[in-house]
Amino acid sequence: MIKITDLHAEIDGKEILKGLSLEVKAGEVHAIMGPNGAGKSTLANVLSGNEAYEVTKGEVLFEGKDLLDLSVEDRAKEGLFLGFQYPVEIPGVSMINFLKIAHAEHRKYRGLEPLSASEFLKLLKEKKALVEIDSKLTNRSVNEGFSGGEKKKNEIFQMAMLDPKLAILDETDSGLDIDALRIVAGGVNKLRRKDNATIIITHYQRLLEHIVPDFVHVLADGKIVKSGPKELALELEEKGYDWLTR
Ligand code: ADP
Ligand code: MG
Ligand code: MG
Repeated sequence: MIKITDLHAEIDGKEILKGLSLEVKAGEVHAIMGPNGAGKSTLANVLSGNEAYEVTKGEVLFEGKDLLDLSVEDRAKEGLFLGFQYPVEIPGVSMINFLKIAHAEHRKYRGLEPLSASEFLKLLKEKKALVEIDSKLTNRSVNEGFSGGEKKKNEIFQMAMLDPKLAILDETDSGLDIDALRIVAGGVNKLRRKDNATIIITHYQRLLEHIVPDFVHVLADGKIVKSGPKELALELEEKGYDWLTR
């Protein structure tokens, strides 16, 4: 699904990613953990195409295509979903209308006509039920005045509607409360399939009690310094990161 090889990236001339390699296959959920400032959010930003970051070396293949060559929009249309990428607030535009347009654009990219109104409504209903979001939220302006938990719910709903091949969710700095944690975990678990994949960035072991990852990686000082099975998260909870970074 995605193959990252020896990725180096900098911001303001400061190197943050220092030779990061990672491969994620279809059907897998990977967790990336690591100390603050390690470069976790930088990785998510670089993959999303945030222009503030400069890739100085390395390669990212997404389903065999050179991801770094694609525009931000095309990355999304190729099936990459970044949890934080969507507009924070869009006053006057309901979630439904926003998604109708985004959904049609994604289909157009694949040479498909937009869904008919009734097909779209059917899909909407199905996905609303799946992520347990109600019309009170989907009819409101995108994220306007939403609580943290409601924003998370929205994000998972967007993900369900756009049905990405690879979702990258950076939960590190979002201050997940119990409610938001449950929403994110529930969404990821329900949307998990053999033909898609998820990278979840977190430093909460707690989240990984709800989303059981296939692999856990530790990102420290711009590189993956350790990878292991889900039990690695427990070991990190117990021992911290120092033993890996000394
Ligand atoms: P993490 O998500 O693992 O906590 P980040 O990727 O946010 O780490 O940050 C990695 C390093 O890059 C930190 O030292 C941080 O200060 C620096 N950094 C991140 N974003 C910027 C930025 N926009 N400008 C300058 N430095 C940045
Ligand atoms: Mg941080
Ligand atoms: Mg971060």
